[in-house]
Amino acid sequence: MKRINVTKTFLPPIEEYEHYLRRIWETGQLTNQGPLLQEFEEKTKDYLGVGNFHFVTNGTLALQLALQALDITEGEVITTPFSYVATVSAILWQRCKPVFVDIDSDSLCIDVQKIEAAITSKTKAIMPVHVFGRPCDVEAIELLAKKHGLKVIYDSAHAFGVEYNGKSIMSYGDISVCSFHATKLFHTIEGGSLITEDKVVSDKIELLKRFGHNGDDHRMLGINAKASEFQAAMGLCNLEYVDTIIDERKRLSTLYSESLGSALFRPQLREHATYNYAYYPVVFDSEDKLLDVAKRLNANNIFPRRYFYPSLNTLPYLDDDYDCPVSEDIAVRVLCLPLYSGLEDSVVHKICEVIKQ
Ligand SMILES: *Cc1c(COP(=O)(O)O)cnc(C)c1O
Repeated sequence: MKRINVTKTFLPPIEEYEHYLRRIWETGQLTNQGPLLQEFEEKTKDYLGVGNFHFVTNGTLALQLALQALDITEGEVITTPFSYVATVSAILWQRCKPVFVDIDSDSLCIDVQKIEAAITSKTKAIMPVHVFGRPCDVEAIELLAKKHGLKVIYDSAHAFGVEYNGKSIMSYGDISVCSFHATKLFHTIEGGSLITEDKVVSDKIELLKRFGHNGDDHRMLGINAKASEFQAAMGLCNLEYVDTIIDERKRLSTLYSESLGSALFRPQLREHATYNYAYYPVVFDSEDKLLDVAKRLNANNIFPRRYFYPSLNTLPYLDDDYDCPVSEDIAVRVLCLPLYSGLEDSVVHKICEVIKQ
């Protein structure tokens, strides 16, 4: 049996990518806000129905740019311990201190009830994650941010295409960041984006992402976060397929759910939210059970992933100790099952069979 990983990158028909490659060869422009990048930004902005959209070279840089664009270069940033390490890396790289607030055991997103107790005079921002594409309690977070004068940056790396209250989840917060990495639901090989409804912030991001200057006019400290025409070309191809990809993932997720029944806990989706089926996480009763199932699946050449493990508050290079019992407990018991368009039904059945055994 061939190796089955947790995900498999979607590749569009090669002729369609070639069509865009020919356009690159015609213009001779490979990067620097070329025509394909502009077309991709325009189309994705329309697809999501958001105000300002910046395509950059990866999601991690997008998180750093978001902090920089909101002048957050010191102080504390409240975040979740249950995420991919890049959420915390971006905060640390900006010379800020991450302050971990534990997660809610239903949604696995940051527990809004516990945020206020973590706010100090040094707190500058909140960086929650719509984990596995399930929206955070955005209303409660907005109220807290207003009350305490804090900025909100959402790490929406998993949330492409998700809507909440009839609009893109990425239109919430001061800035919302997405990742278009090859392992994500929608990808541009490597890539990421910043979305903001604030024109002033958007103009600043525009400068920051290309060295902070406009011609000979050097305005601010910038960095190089520009995406290339090749990345934009992949995005333009994949945008045509994203709805089909989501439908197929939905079908496979339903298959998992029907087969697993109520055997295992799965995180909950808020009301008034649509879902993109970005991941299929299951939570076991104990780490031993998880390891046992993983071992049996590996023996069948099936490789689920321990997303997200370990809980980020336990990273060895942090200055402070944080107690996040819920996140630490879930992190050792959660496993993401293989999910991608092209995954065969028989493999889903096999996985469920092994788990139920
Ligand atoms: C993938 C991911 C990132 C980083 O995105 P890259 O494009 O790989 O840099 C950030 N946050 C979360 C939650 C992610 O899953």
